[in-house]
Amino acid sequence: PGTLYIVATPIGNLEDMSQRALRILGDVDLIAAEDTRHTRKLLTHFGISTPLISYYREQENRRAADLIERIAGGASVALVSDAGTPGISDPGAVLVRQARAAGLPIVPIPGPSALSAAVCCAGLDPGSFLFLGFAPAKAAQRRELLQSLKASPYPLVFYESPHRISAFIRECSLVFGERTVLWAREISKMYEEIEETTLSALTERIDTAKIRGELVLIIHPGTVEQPPSGDLDEILTWYRDHS
Ligand code: SAM
Repeated sequence: PGTLYIVATPIGNLEDMSQRALRILGDVDLIAAEDTRHTRKLLTHFGISTPLISYYREQENRRAADLIERIAGGASVALVSDAGTPGISDPGAVLVRQARAAGLPIVPIPGPSALSAAVCCAGLDPGSFLFLGFAPAKAAQRRELLQSLKASPYPLVFYESPHRISAFIRECSLVFGERTVLWAREISKMYEEIEETTLSALTERIDTAKIRGELVLIIHPGTVEQPPSGDLDEILTWYRDHS
């Protein structure tokens, strides 16, 4: 059979395209892309003319079956998404699972991801974190997720889009109270902004300025509150407030 390559592409700066990614994209028989027009531009920039086929979330099942058949028949296929690493909050999982089930070779071509780019600037010690991708769009589900993460000892890494960011930050403030946050916007692009701030400062900022661009938020864990010792009334009140 051929091989399925999972190829990371830049999240903004084209200089982040790896030598190996360029070679693989030039060598494969077919590139399966989340958005063929978007990827065509990237390929044109690098002088690559490999045929493209679309592979987006709404038709993952159907398209995956077709691609598996081609790879089993000897074709090599590269999967790319619009930006970053396929399969990380991007289509890819169905194809990878089916390729694995069919016993086909799967080779990652590592490279850019907004996840690793943001995490590496957060100074996380010892380096563990919870990656949540996009929080649910529905307010009730989002609230439920955040509630369930309130006591997490791990930093929480979220992707968010500009039109949902203000609702998201407000919700985080409500559920978590005050927290230290790494705010990473437009990573590797002209207006890159990576800073450590707080949920309250961010809430103020979204009230006064419109937020543009793609972003990653890393919410640091809260300090663990201990129940008071001694006075029974105080202890009972604490538990009532914290249940
Ligand atoms: N697979 C991609 C990856 O590996 O980074 C992520 C795809 S997901 C559909 C898009 C989200 O990734 C954006 O909404 C944003 O949260 C984040 N993202 C992508 N590019 C970014 C950038 N240049 N700066 C900050 N966040 C980015």
